[in-house]
Amino acid sequence: MKNTILDLINISSYAGARADYTQGGGGNTSVKNDKEGLMLIKASGYRLKDITETTAFVAVDKNKIADYYNSVDLSVEKDYEKESAEISKNSVAALEGVQTLRPSVEVGFHAILKKYVIHTHSVYANILTCSLEGEQVAEKIFNGKDFGYIFLPYINPGFELTLAMKKAIEEYVNKSGKYPEVIFMKNHGLVVNSDDIDRVKAINETVNETIRNYFGLSDNFRAVNLEKTVNGFVSATHIVCDFVKANGLTKDFLDEYPLYPDQLVYLNNILQFSPDKLKVENGKVYYNTDEKQATTLDETLAAYLFVITSVKNAGLTISKMNEKEVYFINHWEAEKYRRSVK
Ligand SMILES: [Zn+2]
Repeated sequence: MKNTILDLINISSYAGARADYTQGGGGNTSVKNDKEGLMLIKASGYRLKDITETTAFVAVDKNKIADYYNSVDLSVEKDYEKESAEISKNSVAALEGVQTLRPSVEVGFHAILKKYVIHTHSVYANILTCSLEGEQVAEKIFNGKDFGYIFLPYINPGFELTLAMKKAIEEYVNKSGKYPEVIFMKNHGLVVNSDDIDRVKAINETVNETIRNYFGLSDNFRAVNLEKTVNGFVSATHIVCDFVKANGLTKDFLDEYPLYPDQLVYLNNILQFSPDKLKVENGKVYYNTDEKQATTLDETLAAYLFVITSVKNAGLTISKMNEKEVYFINHWEAEKYRRSVK
């Protein structure tokens, strides 16, 4: 188990080191230990880089979750979202010396994938997942690569997403005889999964680099830059400063362009319920809160503005979440929990 924990720290520190891959508590990683029947996965609300040998991750009975999705009978009318959340909760296994936490809200799909899973909200992948033409671009640039990929439509996270992903993988395998190590999720992000730890990281790099090269983007968005103020912090991140100086930033704008769940969970939610914490004044964005939350907000905002700007600059069409999808995220119990963990 010790090696499994070290593997999880390895892929998590890799994926969590850059703001263009993951922002705040977004994104998650997992590693399976077949001998023990367990899967280690990032805990809900934590950052990937918080993961150490004793905290920010949790062990779950991997087979319990996978079996549920393999055998679920959809002909019965019931609350599958609630039922699957219960299964995830009850699958948590205590590990000696490790804090017992709640697994990531995305634990379902991790359980049905290969041994190593890296799920990020990569800004490069999200140029494809948040534009109408993204799927066609993917076809063009990933054709001939040595990994298979699928492009999932937007599906509510949790139960529905796991089932849809499982089905899409099976269909892809049947059709092509190849396993899709890369999964693009519309208006959400990227999943890379493999049985080999070096390969999972290498493929993740290739996917991001291929998209960057295609659009002629640099990879210098790796961290945000905050300056201390009396009440908190002000953003000195180029992407944020440049955009806000030129266009301003209002709640109406964020409400009009809902791109993906984490934007709603972190940005729209803050402006709705704690508007004092995020203020735009004189072309600058102020975060009147502690450094951790300010960092999460600035990373999420910078990533969002990077995606919006890149889609427009590339001459593509923004693809937004619809009202029903936004409603689901705003009322999802699991997201309320995630928001509450700082
Ligand atoms: Zn996600």
